[in-house]
Order: sequence, then C-alpha cells, then structure tokens
Amino acid sequence: MSRERHIVVVGAGLGGPLMALLLARRGFAVTLLERRADPRGGVAQAGRSINLALCARGIRPLERAGVFADVEPLLMPMRARRVHPRSGPGSVHPYGQRPGEINYSVGRAALNRVLVSAAERAGVMLRFEHRCLGLEPESRAVQCIEARSGRAFELDCETVIAADGAGSAVRASLAAAGACTVCAAPLDHDYKEMTLPALGGTHALEPDVLHVWPRGGFMLIALPNSDGTFTLTLFLPRTGEPSFAALADAVALRAFFGAQFPDLEPYQAALIEDLRHNPQGQLGTVYVRGWHLEGRALLLGDAAHAIVPFHGQGMNAAFEDCAVLDTLLERGGEWAAVYAEFERLRRPSAAAIARMALENYAEMRASVREADFQRCQRLGFELERRFPERFIPRYSMVMFHPEISYREAQRRGAIQAAIIGQLDSARTADGGIDYTLAERLVHERLPVPIGRDPDARTG
Ligand SMILES: Cc1cc2nc3c(=O)[nH]c(=O)nc-3n(C[C@H](O)[C@H](O)[C@H](O)COP(=O)(O)OP(=O)(O)OC[C@H]3O[C@@H](n4cnc5c(N)ncnc54)[C@H](O)[C@@H]3O)c2cc1C
Repeated sequence: MSRERHIVVVGAGLGGPLMALLLARRGFAVTLLERRADPRGGVAQAGRSINLALCARGIRPLERAGVFADVEPLLMPMRARRVHPRSGPGSVHPYGQRPGEINYSVGRAALNRVLVSAAERAGVMLRFEHRCLGLEPESRAVQCIEARSGRAFELDCETVIAADGAGSAVRASLAAAGACTVCAAPLDHDYKEMTLPALGGTHALEPDVLHVWPRGGFMLIALPNSDGTFTLTLFLPRTGEPSFAALADAVALRAFFGAQFPDLEPYQAALIEDLRHNPQGQLGTVYVRGWHLEGRALLLGDAAHAIVPFHGQGMNAAFEDCAVLDTLLERGGEWAAVYAEFERLRRPSAAAIARMALENYAEMRASVREADFQRCQRLGFELERRFPERFIPRYSMVMFHPEISYREAQRRGAIQAAIIGQLDSARTADGGIDYTLAERLVHERLPVPIGRDPDARTG
C-alpha cells in the first residue's frame, strides 16, 4: 500500500474503530491495528468495565458516523440514580428534567463488536493480534509485531492516529522523541466488578436507573444489562480500613457486605464469589501535553487524556474527539495544522472533564445521600426551569448538552454553584427562595446566554 492517503489507527477499543470508520468515509485507506484477538470471535474479558454509561455527548459522534442505528438496540435507558442507604427505602434522583435527558447503559463488548464491524464494512483493513511497538518518528513507520508468528514489521503511512488507551505505546514514542510530556496521577481507590444474576429472566433491581450505594469513603454502583443482569462495581481504597487489602478473605467480605449493603443479602454469595475471583482494576488520570508529532502522529481518547470513570465520560470524550477531528478534516489543511488545532480545542476540555470526574467521585460516594445536596439539586432544576437560556445544571451540561464544551460546563458550573450557595443561604424562615435575587444573580453572573459564545462550543 502506498504511503499517500494511508492512515494507521492504533487500538480497536472504542475510539479507534469509530475514528477508523470516519476516516474511511472520507476516502482514506485505513488500517486498524489491535493487539487483542477479534472481539467478534471470542469471549469478553471478565470483570473489566463490562458496561458503560453512554450519553448524548457520545451518541452524537455515533450518529455522525452513521452507526447509531446499530448501537441503539444495545442500550438500556437509565433515567435516574437510585440511592440505597444502609437502612430505609432510599430515594430516586432524576438525572435531568428536559425530555430525553437520560443516560444509557451499554455493554462494552457488544459496542466494540458493532463498531469494529461498521469499520470493516466501510473498508477499514482490520489487523487483530497485531501489537504496535511504537513509532519511528523520522520515517513515520509504525513498528508492529504479529502475535501468532512473532513476526516484526513496519507499516508505512501518511499519518498515525493512536487510540491505544491509557498505556499508549505511541505516546511513549512521542515522549521519547520529546514531543510530549506525560503525568500519571493514580487514584488510591481501585475497583472490582461483580454480576448480579437475573431473577427468573428479569432484573433483580429496578432496570431503568443507575443504582448507587454511597458510603462516604467508598461506593458500590450497579448498571443494568439487557440480559437481565446488572454489573456491580465496588470502588474502594486499596489499603486502610475498609479497603480491598482488608477484605482478603470470604469471612471479611461477608461481614463487610452484610453491614454495608444489607439489601443485597439475597445475592451475597454470588457477589462475593465474583469479588474473590475477578481482577482488581486500577484507576487514575493521565495528563498529557503535546498530543501530536507534527503531522506524523496524533493521540486521542484515553491515550491523550485518561480520566477516572465517575462522570461516565471517558468513552463519551473519546467519541467526541473523533467527531471534532472529523470536523477539522472536513475543513481541510495540512495534518500538522489540523493536529495542532485539535489539541488547542480539546486539551482544555480534557483537563476540565478530568477535574469534574474526580469531583463527581466525592459527590457520588458521599453527597448524593445528603439533604443539602438534594435540596441544592432541586434548586438547580428550578433555576433551569426559570432561566433555561442561562442556567443548566452542570451535570446536565456535561451529559446532555454536547454543544457546550466540557471547559464551558466547568466554567459556568462554578458560577452556578456560587449562585445556588448564595440563594440557599438566603432562604426565608420557611425555606423559600428569593427569586428576584435569583434573577439578578443569574443575569449578572451569566450575562451571555448558553450557545452564544463561539469559544464555548465543543469544536
Ligand atoms: C471501571 C471503568 C468504568 C468506566 N465507565 C465508563 C462510563 O460509564 N462511560 C464512559 O464514557 N467511559 C467509561 N470508562 C472509560 C472508558 O472505558 C474509556 O475512556 C474508553 O474505553 C477509552 O476509549 P479508547 O478507545 O481511548 O481506549 P480503549 O477503549 O482502552 O481502547 C484501547 C485499545 O487499544 C488496544 N491497544 C493498547 N495498546 C496497544 C498496542 N500497543 N498495540 C495495539 N493495540 C493496542 C487495546 O487492546 C484496546 O483495545 C470507564 C472505565 C473504567 C475503567
């Protein structure tokens, strides 16, 4: 294959196949390299983020690529969070209030298969069981090794797009060439996944919500699967009390589960089995400066900006990267200029969602059960109803308003939090809100209506 118009995309996880598909639709010859075996022929890896929350921000790029119709049948709608306290009935908190403001649970393996098949149909050359070893910066060649034969070879191309995840090999080559700096910030909490079996073929818990058991220093969540099961994820400190290290045997696990999650008592045996045998995953944020090597290579998705999963945004952000890059390619220009513009547009937003994802962990594991949080959330919705052009709760901006960049969601969100704090502390004796003050604060502090500032758009 000649180098001209040939692009190598590294990584057939979530962002890679979508980007490969978009590039193929633009007429490029695309090779997609993946170190794993073809997901359509095998069994998914156990206990590794089995399902994910997909939101409007991630759906829009799938629509752009013409693949959403294939993804839609895989989706399980989640309209709210159900909070499970240690005792008592718990409560349900809607994610949003406008029509269609819901998130979707989707199985990673099924989504991956759909994206890979769509890329193949669009003409992408798939090379599974091919590990990328890195990039030869001068020649632009991608160095690979074929797993079965052990044969090492080089692939020549016009440019390389690296969607090879948080531990990106291409990023290591860029760093070695002095093109990027990488700072990894591991979280001191790990995660383990469990499967809550279906009861007589149906879901054992309400199927159309995300379940959360917030416990202050840690939390358990459950997302529904379309086969009637739930995937539960326990996020817990690595060491200390309580921690994964302290829950080393079945006795300790049973005592912990019984005390913390009494409503899961009927399923305890199966869940503890999973906890004992499933892998313990690590989480963290990777901050990268320098996402490209002139026009020769570009990082996207987790390779450029891995984040913790607590806002359910890593995949959504990776998909959004693909759509932004596709828009820039549509406008035209040299690779180097396109890549520089991509980083200019995306890096501030990546930093914003990295921060908001960390903040959301504190919110999910603690505040969602607190009366203050719930009162302020209700006030946020009321302000959105009264001033819909200027005030949208931060969570809604991130999940349901892909036209607003993450950076803008963070900026407006900070102003809104201050407005809510001021109004909440000025409540009347019977808990009423001064809406004249609210109107003044919203207009003074959020003078530009949402969508009017071109710099605040996603790209
Ligand atoms: C527990 C957990 C829960 C999550 N929940 C959510 C959620 O609810 N919503 C959400 O939006 N995001 C979520 N995420 C984040 C999401 O999984 C990632 O952000 C997303 O997968 C990133 O996509 P990507 O294509 O950049 O990387 P990946 O999906 O990681 O894909 C990288 C691919 O590259 C391949 N690869 C790696 N190295 C090489 C190499 N040297 N050569 C060839 N191939 C290689 C890998 O095998 C893999 O297939 C979660 C993550 C975790 C850990």
